[in-house]
Amino acid sequence: MAVYSGPVCRLCRRDGVKLFLKGERCYTSKCAIERRKYPPGQHGQRQRKLADYGVQLREKQKIKRIYRILEKQFRNYFKEAVRRKGVTGETLLQLLEMRLDNTVYRLGLALSRRQARQMVSHGHFCVNGRKVNIPSYQLRPGDTITLASPDQKPGAIEEALRTTGGRRLPEWLGFDIQGIAGKVLAVPTREQIDTQVNEALVVEFYSR
Ligand code: SF4
Repeated sequence: MAVYSGPVCRLCRRDGVKLFLKGERCYTSKCAIERRKYPPGQHGQRQRKLADYGVQLREKQKIKRIYRILEKQFRNYFKEAVRRKGVTGETLLQLLEMRLDNTVYRLGLALSRRQARQMVSHGHFCVNGRKVNIPSYQLRPGDTITLASPDQKPGAIEEALRTTGGRRLPEWLGFDIQGIAGKVLAVPTREQIDTQVNEALVVEFYSR
């Protein structure tokens, strides 16, 4: 799948939910989906009924867009979720949540997942004291995330901390704002993951 480079708010309007692709704008009344709650395009306001396959496909696309994952990698996450013990859909979400880029975003060190991924790729973070520049790096309970150069904090991180200060930190993460250090306290439960998706539909999609 090619990387989508068009207007991202269209994707939210197409899926009918907020995908949080545009940083803090998504949390304000400027959010496009708040103002136009119908799919984009000339026939967007027409009522369309999707078949089961269409519903499952849309849900899969939604999760991929939220976490910014391409098809091949997403399929690998699904295979890994099937291989592990537990509820496949929940395990799939846990694997996605515990990616380093997503965790940086959840800690409020980036305004969006896209920005978090860029910061990680540029080597701005350490995991357990060692620099990691792989956005998909899987964290484990007990892992700590710190800045690679605490004395030269990138402006984008300072701005993110100022802007996201009021955002609620997920219960599975701890954060020391003075030392700018995050900690993974546990594997998140489904209730602790606020991503609005029906992961069971994704399991059905791949189990066809
Ligand atoms: Fe989606 Fe609203 Fe953010 Fe645009 S501003 S990406 S519509 S959540």
